[in-house]
Amino acid sequence: MNLSYPITYIKGISVQRATLLYTELGLKTCDDLLNFFPFRYIDKTAFYTIKELQSNTSEVQIVGKITQVKSVAQKRGSRLVATFQDATGTMELVWFRGQKWIKDALKINEPYVVYGKLNHYNGNFSIPHPEIELVKEYKKKLQTKMQPVYPSTEKLTNSGVSNKLIRTYVQHLLQQFYEGIQESLSQEIIADFTLMGKREALLNAHFPESQENLAKAQYRLKFEELFFIQLQLLRKKQLNKIKIKGLVFENVSENFNTFYTNHLPFSLTNAQKRVLKEIRKDVASGAHMNRLLQGDVGSGKTIVALLAMLLAIDNGFQATLMAPTEILATQHYHAISELVKDMDLNVDILTGSVRTKKRRELHQNLEDGTLHILIGTHALIEDKVQFKNLGIAIIDEQHRFGVAQRAKLWSKNSLPPHVLVMTATPIPRTLAMSVYGDLDISVIDELPPGRKEVKTVHRFDSNRLSVFKFMKDEIDKGRQVYVVYPLIQESEVMDYKDLLDGYESISREFPTPKYQISIVHGQMKPADKEYEMQRFVKGETQIMVATTVIEVGVNVPNASVMVIESSERFGLSQLHQLRGRVGRGADQSYCILLSSYKLSSEGKTRLKTMVETTDGFKIAEVDLKLRGPGNLMGTQQSGVLNLKIADIVKDTQILVSARNTAMALLKEDATLSKPENSNIKKTYIALSKTSKIWSEIS
Ligand code: ADP
Ligand code: MG
Repeated sequence: MNLSYPITYIKGISVQRATLLYTELGLKTCDDLLNFFPFRYIDKTAFYTIKELQSNTSEVQIVGKITQVKSVAQKRGSRLVATFQDATGTMELVWFRGQKWIKDALKINEPYVVYGKLNHYNGNFSIPHPEIELVKEYKKKLQTKMQPVYPSTEKLTNSGVSNKLIRTYVQHLLQQFYEGIQESLSQEIIADFTLMGKREALLNAHFPESQENLAKAQYRLKFEELFFIQLQLLRKKQLNKIKIKGLVFENVSENFNTFYTNHLPFSLTNAQKRVLKEIRKDVASGAHMNRLLQGDVGSGKTIVALLAMLLAIDNGFQATLMAPTEILATQHYHAISELVKDMDLNVDILTGSVRTKKRRELHQNLEDGTLHILIGTHALIEDKVQFKNLGIAIIDEQHRFGVAQRAKLWSKNSLPPHVLVMTATPIPRTLAMSVYGDLDISVIDELPPGRKEVKTVHRFDSNRLSVFKFMKDEIDKGRQVYVVYPLIQESEVMDYKDLLDGYESISREFPTPKYQISIVHGQMKPADKEYEMQRFVKGETQIMVATTVIEVGVNVPNASVMVIESSERFGLSQLHQLRGRVGRGADQSYCILLSSYKLSSEGKTRLKTMVETTDGFKIAEVDLKLRGPGNLMGTQQSGVLNLKIADIVKDTQILVSARNTAMALLKEDATLSKPENSNIKKTYIALSKTSKIWSEIS
């Protein structure tokens, strides 16, 4: 008997049932069921007496006898009422359904264990549809005082697969396979953390003897789960370092130095310098760089990217920068061309809207090496795009790209280019450890000097007039203003209408010729978008009315006001990104969050958080708590987060211990070949055969 057997090996599970359990819950093997954990437990450790009952006790368990049973007529139909008593008092048990059958089954004056939700009416207690069992039956069973409640689906319930049935399956499973459950951790780790043994932990996670045992069991299983994920990620990182030979950028010469001394428009912040040093160390080491650069909006990642690209060029390589949208790619293209305009470098852009003729030319320049820096969108990863010798691939705003796309860039060179992934969506440290555990992480945690914190307020729709007034004052001072509308796919048509209505009312309020307004939305042609964008960038228009297309990366330092319409409909990270569009120049900037009066409590928390802090990491923490990890950008496809028992938000402490333990272990026994680590090795091998982590993280 082996836990990898299908669940049909478990007593009571037919092929048909097994199919249902698979389609509904994804349970295929015995091991799957063993690791299918209850989401709550009914605490039956306590017994009540009837006298003790309080109107606020919700679920109770009582031992007593039924003294009489009667049918009571009511408005519609009848109800079955049993008088239930113990030494201290009397109460009622009530049934509305299945009365006939229940009436026949009930035994008078025999001791029962009764369990259920307590009702209180006119000073009388009752339990409708209680769980009820004769004490003598109750005593025969494998007694678990806290009863597991498993996740289920409507279809399962309707097909007669009740929680009780799943409980029975798990019970059978544990009875049949208990001896086959192998310890997966080493004695040393178990001793270090005083962990419960694996068998005991599984038993107690399903059928805990007490709250205390449950806590211990859960700790052990969470630790193990996180430990093996970390072990895989760290091992992968280690292997990459050994196996994947990195291109060596040993020269720091002309381009880098010339730029650094003559063309750098400002001095770098300490954080930028530190990150640059980390990158330089990576690319000179002979190992392959796979680095995540986190830096809040406006922290100055672009210049770091450019300097990294110059390092590549100094060593005879080409560089590429990929952005998620055409607007952003164009913006990068302009910014970078401007920065290097006095240098002897060729920079070009490739997006979906580049014409065939130009494209052919570009391919040619790329292949013969005359093109040094190529900036673009997804269009870059098409097979037709071939570099002569790509040395570094930089990906901006990582969360927009899937992991597969990241991997595809690798194949653009015979030796994989160094990879730098930049993101402005701060990821809480714990999450980064899991989702990007195989990457090295750099953080720019300092904004360029002189930036003033964006003042953020929340206003209701009814205050719109005063908001318009404020916009006018700022425009009179020579500033520019964004007005952003939500565009959420399901109701795209309506959102689009909101945007156009808004545009109209703003046009009325801000008439030409005094005011000029740009509008940008997703349904426009790229060229038109670009034209409107450029008018705003050049300062020809004072107001930019837009949907969230401007969310990522756009840089207009003169813009000082960000008005967000229906702000309650945006997620926190989106709001943060949007706010990051202002506060880029020397002037005081403002973010005005407009909303209706109707706010969900989550909506309230989001707006309150935005008003209270501008710290992207704090905002990310709140976001993670509100939405859970599955919804954070970039994590959806990540198998890393398919956790069975651990919770990446709540179990931070365990995660950190697990990661440190895995790190220490690999340091001592990188190949897990020491005999004392054989349990770990076995589990590790088994997991890497089934785990998605391997294929999903590039
Ligand atoms: P992000 O990290 O959001 O991509 P950018 O690279 O677009 O930020 O930089 C935001 C703005 O800050 C740009 O206008 C850039 O020129 C400017 N900037 C970047 N680094 C510095 C610095 N060290 N000192 C002053 N301004 C800087
Ligand atoms: Mg940027």
